[in-house]
Amino acid sequence: MQHSRQSFRWWLVGGACLGLLGSALIARQSLDEQRALFETDARIVHRLLSQRVVQHDAILATLTLLQPAAEAPGATPPEQRLPALYPHILAVQRRDRNGAWRDPALASAETTSRQTVQAALASVDFAAGRYQLVLAATPTSYALTVDLRAMVPTEEWPMPLEASPVRVSLAHDGQLFQIQAGQLPEQTTATGWSFDFHKHLAATSQPFDVVAERHLGWGQLPWWRMGAWWLLVAAALAGMAQAQFQRAERRRAEELLRLGQVARLNTLGELAAGMAHELNQPLTAVLANTQGALRLLNEDPPELETAREAMRQAAAQARRAADVVGRLRQAVERPAIGGATQSVSLNGAVQRALYLLEPESRRRGVEPVIKAAGVVTVQVDPVALEQIVHNLLMNALQALEQVSTDGRQLMVSLRAEGSGGVLEVADTGPGIALDALPRLFEPFFSTREGGLGLGLSLCETLASGMGGALAAHNAAQGGAVFTLTLPLQGARV
Ligand code: ADP
Repeated sequence: MQHSRQSFRWWLVGGACLGLLGSALIARQSLDEQRALFETDARIVHRLLSQRVVQHDAILATLTLLQPAAEAPGATPPEQRLPALYPHILAVQRRDRNGAWRDPALASAETTSRQTVQAALASVDFAAGRYQLVLAATPTSYALTVDLRAMVPTEEWPMPLEASPVRVSLAHDGQLFQIQAGQLPEQTTATGWSFDFHKHLAATSQPFDVVAERHLGWGQLPWWRMGAWWLLVAAALAGMAQAQFQRAERRRAEELLRLGQVARLNTLGELAAGMAHELNQPLTAVLANTQGALRLLNEDPPELETAREAMRQAAAQARRAADVVGRLRQAVERPAIGGATQSVSLNGAVQRALYLLEPESRRRGVEPVIKAAGVVTVQVDPVALEQIVHNLLMNALQALEQVSTDGRQLMVSLRAEGSGGVLEVADTGPGIALDALPRLFEPFFSTREGGLGLGLSLCETLASGMGGALAAHNAAQGGAVFTLTLPLQGARV
C-alpha cells in the first residue's frame, strides 16, 4: 500500500515535470513564431516607406533635370499637377532664377542641398504630419511638402492599420509620428515579452527612423494548446498508471492462486493424515477381534478347518488393509516442517497477506489496523507462515460478515515477547461459542456452512511444526483473538 502510494507520487511528479516542460516548449515556440511574424512585418513596412521617400528624391531630381520650359502666361506650371498624381505630395514650390523663397527655412535648406548635392530637409513638423524637402538646382530649385499620413501605402500595408497590436512610428530628432497606434501596455514595467525594430529609411535625404514595437502579455500565450498538452500528459499517465495497476492486480491474483495451491496441497495432506488416523484404529481392532475369534474357534468345535482358514484369511486381509493405510500415510506425510526455516520479518508477512486480501477486506468494508512494536523477525518456514497468517485473517474477515458493517474492525498486532514473536489477530465478530472453543483445532470441526474445518487444525500443525503455538480466546469486549507465537530469530527451538 505504502509502495503504491509512493509510486503514485512519482507518477505525479513525473507528470508535472513533463507538463511543465511541454508547456514551456509550446510557449517558447509561440513566442518565436510571433517574433518572426513581427520582424517580417516590420521589414515590409520599412521597405514600403523607403520606396516612398526614395520616390520623393526621384521626383525632385526629375523636376530639376527638366527645368521649367517657357510657359504661356496664365497656364498652370506642369509641376503643379503632381499633387493630383501623388496624394502624399501636398504642394510643389519653386524658386526661379533671381527669385526668392517666401519661407526662410526653404532658403537655408537650399543652401544645404547645394553643398551636399542632394535633397535637404527644410522643415519637419511631425505634430502636423508633414515635412518639406528642397533640391537646389540652377536656375530653378524645387521644394516638396509631404503629407506623412498619406505617405502610408495602405493597400500594401502588411497589418490591419487600426486593429494590429504592433505600434509603428517614424522618429526624427526627438519627434515621433505614429503611423499605427498598436496595443502597448500603459506601464513600461508590464510583465511579458517586448519586441522592437529600429531602422533608418533608405534615403539619406530623409533620415527618418522606422520604429516598430510589439508587446505580448501572459494572457497572449497559447493557453489552449498548453492546456491540451496537460490533458494529453494526464491521459497518457492515467493509461500507464492503469496498466501498472492491472499488472499489480494480475500479480496479486497469481500470488493468491499460488497460495491457494499450497493450501490445497497442505489440506490434502491434512485430510489424508486424518483419514489414516481414523482408519488405522478400527482396522487394528478388527485384526485383534478376528484373531481372538480364531482362538475361540480353535478351542470349541474340534474341526472347523474351513472356518479357521477363512478367519486366517480375514486376518491377513485386515493386516493388508492396515498396511495399505500405513503406506498411504507415509506417502502423504509432509516433509518435516521447520526443516527449511529462515529469518522472516513478521511485519512483512502480515503486510503481504493484507495486501493480497485487500479486495476481500474492501468488499466487506473492513479497514485493517496494524499495531507493531518495531520489526519482529522470526525463524520460520516462510510459506507455512504465509499460510497461517492468511488463514487467520481470512477467518476473521469471514467472522466479521456476521456483524453490521459499521461494527467491523480487524486489528493485527505484533510484538516480541521473551524468545517468541507474537502475532495477534483480533476481530469484532461474534466470537467463538464456549462449547466450540476446546474443539477449534480439531480436524473437520467447522460451524461455517460449507466449511471444511481443516484451516485451524492445519495452522496449528504448521505452527507447532516450526516450534511455535497457536491459541484462541474471546476478547472481554467481544470478538475472537487468535494468538500465534513463533520462535524469534536466534532463539533456540
Ligand atoms: P472453516 O473455516 O472451514 O470452518 P477453520 O478450521 O478455519 O475451518 O475454522 C474452524 C471454526 O472455527 C470455524 O468454523 C468457526 O466456527 C471458528 N472460527 C475460526 N475463526 C473464527 C473467528 N475469527 N471468529 C469466530 N469463530 C471462528
